[in-house]
Parts: sequence; structure tokens; C-alpha cells
Amino acid sequence: MQSSYELVMGLETHVRVKSETKMFCSCKNALELSDEANVHVCDFCMGFPGALPVLSDAVASLGVRAGLAMKCTINQKSVFDRKSYFYPDLPAGFQITQLYHPIATHWEVSAFVGTKLQTFRIARMHLETDAGKLIHAGKTLVDYNRASSPLMEIVTEPDFRSRDEVLAYLEELQKLLRFVDASDADMEKWQLRCDVNISIRKTGETHFNNRVELKNLNSFSAIGRAIDTEFHRQIAIVQAGWVVEQETRGWDDDRGMSAPQRSKEDAMDYRYFPEPDLTPLILSDEYIAARAVTDRPIERRVRYLDEYGLLSDDARILSRDRETSDYFERLVALTGDPKKSCSYITTVLFSLMEASQTHRSMAENPVSAEALARVIDLVNRDEISSTNSKVVVERLFTGWWEPDAIIDELGLRQNNDTEMLADIAMKIIANHPEQVADYKNGNEKVFGFLVGQCMKASKWQGNPKAFNEILLSKLS
Ligand SMILES: [Zn+2]
Repeated sequence: MQSSYELVMGLETHVRVKSETKMFCSCKNALELSDEANVHVCDFCMGFPGALPVLSDAVASLGVRAGLAMKCTINQKSVFDRKSYFYPDLPAGFQITQLYHPIATHWEVSAFVGTKLQTFRIARMHLETDAGKLIHAGKTLVDYNRASSPLMEIVTEPDFRSRDEVLAYLEELQKLLRFVDASDADMEKWQLRCDVNISIRKTGETHFNNRVELKNLNSFSAIGRAIDTEFHRQIAIVQAGWVVEQETRGWDDDRGMSAPQRSKEDAMDYRYFPEPDLTPLILSDEYIAARAVTDRPIERRVRYLDEYGLLSDDARILSRDRETSDYFERLVALTGDPKKSCSYITTVLFSLMEASQTHRSMAENPVSAEALARVIDLVNRDEISSTNSKVVVERLFTGWWEPDAIIDELGLRQNNDTEMLADIAMKIIANHPEQVADYKNGNEKVFGFLVGQCMKASKWQGNPKAFNEILLSKLS
């Protein structure tokens, strides 16, 4: 009975900090994977004797900002430790990390799981150095560009009970880190890596069983598949009367299965000790206060739902990244109309972006919020029809600047002269006796045809609402 078991999961996420330089030297922090191998290296990050570390201000600052974004306590004193082990991608023979005194503790991250807002507890976040990269190509090569690059490791409590919760949390974490510009958190570029600790227990039990640490999870979809597969593997073991072994397993997404990796050493094996070449990181109240974060994507999303009354999907889409959200808020400030602002972005602008080769994201959107606000204003004042407003936005998207100039150039300004419109309507009625008789006999569908004829006769400039009213009164 699978339904009588529940998943218990905690996450360890490594995120590459978006600083210009590496953590302790002035080498470039190579955020793209395309750079030539071993060009961003120096004596320090190659582990040569005598080269000393100097902590990057930007790394500390972004670490604090990321921590505050997630409502954590920033520790005024954090300490760097050496974690010693041998591996070819680690030229110094040790990693610099923060084991005993991390920079941040006790965070929480809220995320929508479906339509339900849930909060997940974060145990700690610390700063640490990355290792280089092994390239297996017949023989094994090493690229040290990444060695000693700055990482944040974010460790959660075992609060996750389903894959949907894990994925919702990770997406929110990614959004939040991008929002405060602490990381691009792009999984394809190895800027966000996640290990999942998984155990199962009978529903209703409160103790924790042996957990398996799943590694090599390279995409959100791989994480989902790995969780499902591991859940069923552990149930099968327990149902066969065995005990799940505590171990580390690597996920092979192509084969859809995991295999054991080296067993996890305990802390003693790494011979942790305080890094002798670095003083503790001391942060003043003023330093922390200057990096305060008051605005988060999740808070914007809740505001769009509660204050603006937007639909759940629209609120999600409009808070998905900083550019989209800022644009929407600017448009609302100009129009005072959240629903219409939402609709022009999510239907008109987004479909233009989808069809475009060059302007696919909000950052590349050529339509200024001011111009779009003017279009919405003209629609509200009946100066253009809503159909024609889309033509105007299309032109703005191709680089035209002025909505009014487009409207005049294309002759789109709406005709609201009721006398002139009434003349047109009378002619249409006179020219279509059969349809008029049909309508009067109860065929209401013909009404739309008559409005269409009026619009055509007005060269699409007549106000359709006005034609509606005129026809209704003349035909009743
Ligand atoms: Zn270096």
C-alpha cells in the first residue's frame, strides 16, 4: 500500500554567487561555461604555497542580501573553516567553508504549492568555495576556472512531503535570488545545484528513518523524476522486510535510476578547523541594515491576488521575474487599472514576444510602460477600439514610439459622432431588409452581422458600442 507511506525530504542547494570575482582572489568568477579552460586562475586558487586569501566584499554583501531576502538572521560574526580532503579538482587540498559559524541561520521561504501558500524552514546558509571541474574524455582533464568561485549553500529542515513542494520551493528560491541579484541561479549553467535527502515513513509516524542523499540532479524535471523513483525504491525495500541503508546515490536521468556513490564521511574525516589565513567575518548592524530587503516576489504575488483581484495564474506570471513585475507595477501606477494592465501584458505583449525572434523577454520589450498606458487610456476614453488598440501595440513593438502618431497614420481613431453613426446605421438597415425582418422574427444572431456591416461602412472607425445602441433602438 503505497499511500500509507509518506516522503520526508530536506534539501541542500548550492548556488553560485553573482560577483565579478572569485571568493578570495581577483580572478574572474566565470558564470558562463563557454570560457576556455584554465584561464581564470592565479596562485591562490591553484593552491600554490604562500598565496593568501582576501575575502571579496561583493561576495559578503550578496550573501547578506540573499539571507535577508529569505528573512533569515544574519550572524554578526561568521567564521571560515578548512575542510580538507584530496580530489584532483581541489588543487589546495582543502575547501574553505563555514561549518560552525555560518553567515545566516533560521530562514524561511514561502512558496505557492498549487494555490496554497506554504512556508519551508531553512536551517542555515553558509559561504564556501567551489571546486574545479573534471572532464572525462578518454583520459581525465581538469578545468580550474571554477575553483574557489563563491557558493552559497542553503540547507533546509526536513519539511518537504511531496515533489510538488520541493519544486515549488526551488522555483521560489530561484526567483528570490534573481530578484535581489545575488545569483542567476541557472541550473543549466551549474549556478544552482540541489541534493535531496529522502526518507519514507508510515503516514502518521513522527520519527525519521534512514535517509538517502540523491546527487547529480541537473534540472527541475530530473529532480521530480528522481524523487518519484526513490520513493518507490524505498517502499519496495521496506515491504520486502529490509531496512533502507543510509547512503549517497547518484541519479542517472537517462536511465531513470540511481546508483550508490561513495558513502558519506563524517565530519571528523574532513579534519575541519578554523581557516588560519582569514579573520572572522564581522558585520555591523549598519552594514546589515543597509542591505535590507523589503520587497519579495512572493509578497508581490500575494498583493496581486488580494489587492488587485487578479486570477491566480496571472499573479504568478506577473511576479515571475523582476523585469515583468516592475513593468506591471509601473503600468498600474500610470493607469490605475490593474486588471486592464494585466490583460495588455499577458495577452497582447506576451503573444508578441512569443512570436518574436529578437524580443523574447521583458528585458528586451521595446514598448515603454508610458506608451502602453497611453493606449489603455485611449481605449478607456473610447478614442480607439480595443481591437485597434492591439494594432497600435503591434506597431509599438516594432519600434514606433508614439501611440497617437500611429493612430493618426493608420486612421484608427474611433468615430464617436452619433449623428454620423446613426446615418450609417439607417443606411445599413435600409439596404438589408431581409436580415432586418429575420432579426425582428427572433433571429438574434443577425444583429452581429448588422453591427459588422456598420463597422465596415465606417471603415472600421465607428464606435462599435455606439452602433450597438443605435441599432437596438432603431430595430426595437
Ligand atoms: Zn584566483
